[in-house]
Amino acid sequence: MSMPERAATALAEMAACHECDELHRVPVLAPGATARCHVCGAVLARNPRGGLDRPIALYITALVLLLLANIFPFLTLEIGGRKEVCTLFGASRAMYNAGMGELAVVVFLTSILAPALMMSSGLYVMLSVRFRQSWPAVRLLLAWIGHLEPWVMLDVFMLGVLVAFVKLGNMATMHTGNSLYAFVGLILVFAAASSAFDRHLLWHRLGVPRRKRP
Ligand SMILES: [Zn+2]
Repeated sequence: MSMPERAATALAEMAACHECDELHRVPVLAPGATARCHVCGAVLARNPRGGLDRPIALYITALVLLLLANIFPFLTLEIGGRKEVCTLFGASRAMYNAGMGELAVVVFLTSILAPALMMSSGLYVMLSVRFRQSWPAVRLLLAWIGHLEPWVMLDVFMLGVLVAFVKLGNMATMHTGNSLYAFVGLILVFAAASSAFDRHLLWHRLGVPRRKRP
């Protein structure tokens, strides 16, 4: 084994495959390289050629789209000459006012709060690593992103909107607002941002193991 190979193996980290749970030792990857599971072929880690610039740009775009999705009207309903303008936050508030407090909290958490926290935390960590600055709580936030991820359900919210379109189609006239377009864009950009965001690579760049070793 050559010296660089030995150094790479020494820095290698144990990682479980997300698909089949097989344990692997993933070394520090060269730019453009991808590590795949030898059992099922799932991607374990990748080191994109453009470095962190692409995920940073995607996360900034996603944050701007999330902001736009919350500023403008989402939908306008016309029932019997009455107009109801609905915003993204207004959907949670309407549920709360209708006595569905628990559901209102879940909708707010999964469609606004968790995505906002995940995007801002991810951006903070990536900018810190990109510009080689040791900003406070970077490691804590990187660990926290993994816990936030399952709570981001933008696509589920969109599915609910589509169901409402079909159900209310005969009863009311619905007009789409700018927020809805921003939200659709957000789902697409966030999917691209999530696939470009590699926690494994960031842990390596931070130069610390994920868990304290005895
Ligand atoms: Zn696998």
